[in-house]
Amino acid sequence: MGRRRRKVIRVQKRKLPTIYLCPKCGKETIRIKLLKDQEIATIQCGNCGLSDKFDLNPSLQEIDVYCQFTDKFY
Ligand SMILES: [Zn+2]
Repeated sequence: MGRRRRKVIRVQKRKLPTIYLCPKCGKETIRIKLLKDQEIATIQCGNCGLSDKFDLNPSLQEIDVYCQFTDKFY
């Protein structure tokens, strides 16, 4: 009977793609993916193709993965 449905507005958190500086080619083309179900983190450069994988701890953040990655590279 003409009941109005209230529109549910969901506030979506905008997820910015996090891009880091590549230690190899020096461009901001590094992307980090945290695969929580597989407990790994993958990191890849979209420019030179440099990539790596790390074990993921629950406390680990993208930036930590990035630090490990650059440490390993240098
Ligand atoms: Zn690169």
